[in-house]
Parts: sequence; structure tokens; C-alpha cells
Amino acid sequence: MKNFDPKYNDIPKTEIHCHLEGAIRTQTIIDVAKENNIQLPAYEVQVLDKHVKVLDQMKDLQAVLDAFDIFQRSITSPAVFERIAWELFEDCAKQNIKLFEVRFSPDWAFHGHNLDWDACLEGLLRAQERAEKEFDMAIGIIAITSRGMGADSCIKTVDWAIKHQQYIQAVDLADGEKIFSAKDFIKPILKAKDAGLKVTIHSGEDTPAEYVIETIKNFKPDRIGHGIHSIEDMRAVEMLIEKDITLEVNPWSNFLTNSVSTIEAHPLKKLFDLGVKVTINSDDPEVLETNVNNEYRIAHEVLGMSMAEINLCNRFAFEASFIAEGKKQKIWDRYFA
Ligand SMILES: [Zn+2]
Repeated sequence: MKNFDPKYNDIPKTEIHCHLEGAIRTQTIIDVAKENNIQLPAYEVQVLDKHVKVLDQMKDLQAVLDAFDIFQRSITSPAVFERIAWELFEDCAKQNIKLFEVRFSPDWAFHGHNLDWDACLEGLLRAQERAEKEFDMAIGIIAITSRGMGADSCIKTVDWAIKHQQYIQAVDLADGEKIFSAKDFIKPILKAKDAGLKVTIHSGEDTPAEYVIETIKNFKPDRIGHGIHSIEDMRAVEMLIEKDITLEVNPWSNFLTNSVSTIEAHPLKKLFDLGVKVTINSDDPEVLETNVNNEYRIAHEVLGMSMAEINLCNRFAFEASFIAEGKKQKIWDRYFA
């Protein structure tokens, strides 16, 4: 649920794992559909919400795939992409998120309407510039390459991210770790790293700890998305600590996707107590009907982390953030220090 409890809302926050494609407001989907004659299952927010949001622990994957099909069809132009980004930044500002990294998969997001990637990036950059000024926040950008879209897509995305390194700080390998072998993606991801981009990998979300160990060996990532199943093997935990790899954890997402059986069983605090640098994020705030305030509520009220411990997670996110040193330091000093 969206949470605006002042206890969580008032404190300055970071978020370093958030998918733009999973952050489209339902009203925006409807507006865009009306403007572009796009067929939707419903044209009222409350009704369409049933088709585009996951409100309870998932029973089947198809509902979510259908929702993402709607999101893909909703990204009809660079201007719409700019609007979606702006609205996400607005939603961040409402929660007092001051340091924020947004990620998206260009090959997926722009595929539906065969949009020009560079023109869409320009739209995103306009939204970023406005939001940084208006809300006094620091925003970073991550380009995702989805395992499901194959090795060629990964190569294309990495090359594009390298070309726009001035604006894009990192690449993320996401999607179906269980189904797609890592080996096709090692070369392009290491190429990104060699070119100076940072690397984060979705790993150990719904896969066992050995996947995290393999991910660390194969990709030498700066951060790992989720990584929660590391808790099941101390070798994985030790590797994370020894190599100083920060986890981007998304508790409510992990519950909804059945990556943990109950929210009470989430290992966020256990990982923290073992000395792993964990951060607290929302993943897909609109699809999963959550926000960082809600994730903090879960960390504090359900998992028993103290507010001081949660604040330390902000520190971990700041340190591991891919945003340029000077830019993130300024925001840190002004709001967090
Ligand atoms: Zn994710």
C-alpha cells in the first residue's frame, strides 16, 4: 500500500532500485490510451487498477505479463516517456526521496511503438533536469538489459549506454535468472564495466544463493538487485561482504512475487545483522502499489529494524549510488548528514 505516515515520510530517503516501466500511474495509462486509441480492459482508474496492479501474493504470472503488455503499449512517444518519468520523480518528491536512481530497459520500453532510443533519453533527461531543480534531488539513470530479450539486445543496450555515458551511469542485467544462462551476457556486461559504467545484476531474487555466487564470479558487479537468497549460504554472504557488494532489496516485491513465503520471513534484517550492506527500495511502485515509505514501515514494524538501522541503509545506498560523487555528496550533506 502507498504509505504517507509522517514517521517515514518526513525523513529524507534514498532509492536505488526502481523500474520506470513499473511506475506508470494508472491515470496516465488511461490518458495515453484515449489520446492514441489504445484498447484497454477499462478506462476508469479503479477498474483498470485490477488489471495493472498486483495487490496480493501472486498466484499466476500471466496477470503480471498482461499488465506489462499494457505498460509497453502505453509508451507511445518520447513525450509520453518524459511524462512518465516526471510523474515518477514527483512521486519520489512527495515521499522526500532525495537521492534516486531510475532504471528502464530501452529495448523493451521502446519496442512497442518502435521509438527512437535517443529521443526518449532526451525526454527523460528533460524530466530529470526539471525534477532535480524543482525538488532539489539527485537522480541517476541505469539502462537495463533483459535476459529474456537475448544476447544481441544486451550488446545493443550496452553499446547504447556506453555512447551515452555522460547521462547513463550503469547497466543492469534483469529478468528470468532461472531460465536464461548467464554465459551469453558476460562479455557485453564486462564490456560495459571496462568502458567505465557501473554494473548491477538482478540475482538471487527467486533463485538460490549459488546463483548469487555465480553472478559475483561472472560479472563482478558493483551491486546486486535483490540477492535475498544469499541468506541460505554463508559463502554467498561472505562474498558479498568481502567484495563490498551492496544489495538493492525490495521487501514487498519479494513477498508479492513469492520470493519469500511470508513478509515476516523476509531476510532483510538478517542480512543487515550479518553485515551485508542492504538498501531498501520499492522495485515497481505502481504495479506493486507500494512506495519507499511502505518498505520502511515493513522494515521497521514487521521485520524489527530500528529507525537508526534503516537510516544506515540510506548511508549504504548513498555510498553505493552510481550518481556522480560531487552531485550525490551535495545532496547528502544538505539532507542526510
Ligand atoms: Zn527489479
